[in-house]
Amino acid sequence: MTPEQKLDALNRLLEHCKTAPFYRGRIPNRPLRSLKELKRIPLTTKNDLRRCSPFCLVCVPREEIYQYHETYGTTGVPVSTWFTKRDLRENAREITRCGVNLDADDTVLVRFPYAISAVAHMVHAAAQAKGACVIPASARSTVSPFPRVVNLMKNIQVTVLTCLPLQVLLIAETAELLGSEPRQDFPHLRAICTAGEPLSPARRRLLQSIWGVPIFDIYGMAEIGTAVVDCEYGQPHTLEDYFVFELLDKDLKTDVKPGQVGHLVVTTLRKRATPMIRYLTGDRARVVAKDCACGRDSSLQVRGRWEDTVTVGRRVFDLWDLDEIVSNFPCQRFWVVGPTSGGLHFVVEEEERDGDVGPELLSSLTEKYEVKLKLDVVPKGTLYDRDELLDVGPVGKPQYIYSVTEMEAKKYLKSMKM
Ligand SMILES: [Zn+2]
Repeated sequence: MTPEQKLDALNRLLEHCKTAPFYRGRIPNRPLRSLKELKRIPLTTKNDLRRCSPFCLVCVPREEIYQYHETYGTTGVPVSTWFTKRDLRENAREITRCGVNLDADDTVLVRFPYAISAVAHMVHAAAQAKGACVIPASARSTVSPFPRVVNLMKNIQVTVLTCLPLQVLLIAETAELLGSEPRQDFPHLRAICTAGEPLSPARRRLLQSIWGVPIFDIYGMAEIGTAVVDCEYGQPHTLEDYFVFELLDKDLKTDVKPGQVGHLVVTTLRKRATPMIRYLTGDRARVVAKDCACGRDSSLQVRGRWEDTVTVGRRVFDLWDLDEIVSNFPCQRFWVVGPTSGGLHFVVEEEERDGDVGPELLSSLTEKYEVKLKLDVVPKGTLYDRDELLDVGPVGKPQYIYSVTEMEAKKYLKSMKM
């Protein structure tokens, strides 16, 4: 896409957005003369979206609306996102750009939550658009607990697993608890596709070493769609024909210098139902100018949310930095960290593999990363309950017909609890 074509697409989008009450008044009357002029339009923040949900950002008539999703709203009021039929198709196309290259020979197990949130449905549609067979094995559902996912992966010969990076670890743990070796006992698995959490190089190495297959990551969110996908060489590239990207400095006005970490701001060029103009994603990102074997000359590292950082003195450690430090520990799967006076305090779960976590390792790492480190190794199960992993969940269907003996037994058990 040439800059002229992009400007043209942007001006068409701005015109379209004037139908939404929120954007009316924010968009200039005349078309932009350059991409730089986009900066004259105010940023759209998460708070704006909360305030305008559910209807004030909708830019199409009701009859064109086809699907609705919203964020979980764990940090406040949920944010609404609407889709036209075409939006869903475009969203699937964004995901199919990923280097995992799904095809009709693939059996794809989708392990994102299907209720309310968008990502499971988008990955599902993308896999089917490429002719793959999909197994919907929703996360956060009592019908598909972890042991069932492990069994599905084995018995249905899953070739691609898609889920959060944390789920990749938890599924591996469950497989191991059930007596399987992830690297050996899933011979049909060829790749894992992750989304929803930052995937640092250290975490990617860890997951690849556990499962023995390549990991492909996609970055996006319900509000904007999928904006960055890994190519076949595992490098994250921006989808330039779908979005305008900005990386802003602390002032949220000027662009950061090349190579610096900035605030990622995204404008959607093709979304019709609820387009985003200059959406402040809340994510830290930086452009790395380096030729990739796929032919592109730069990649975009999305390094997690601005609030998911630990500050020690003047230094800010984001999830990528923290993962990098953890990659030196003998136990790397499950950890938490907090600041101490002048340093970082890690708590990690012990693992089977041998390794020294003595003072020598800590002092060499303190020197390497120029920050004081404290490390506590806690028993397995402290941070993530393993019994919960093996729990098969409550019965999914209601039962109306009981035998008298069962009923009596239940009453008896209830009276015992009281
Ligand atoms: Zn590439």
